[in-house]
Amino acid sequence: MEGTELNRWIAASRTAQAKPSVATPAQTSFVPEQARAPSCPVCSSAMQKRVAKRGANIGNEFWGCSQFPKCKGIVQDL
Ligand SMILES: [Zn+2]
Repeated sequence: MEGTELNRWIAASRTAQAKPSVATPAQTSFVPEQARAPSCPVCSSAMQKRVAKRGANIGNEFWGCSQFPKCKGIVQDL
């Protein structure tokens, strides 16, 4: 008798655990690219990710000032 009750309780708790948690959205771990964008060391504006198209670091990603070409501040991607 006791064993049957226990098995029924285990089955019920397994069913409860199998349900997807609606209270936890999947996108909470997603960090937008702009959230970790550094600010310009020259003018403190937001920076945008760019890819070097010329020079010794061609193809490398870096942060360029959003005020370019007015401001030429850059930050190397870490
Ligand atoms: Zn700047």
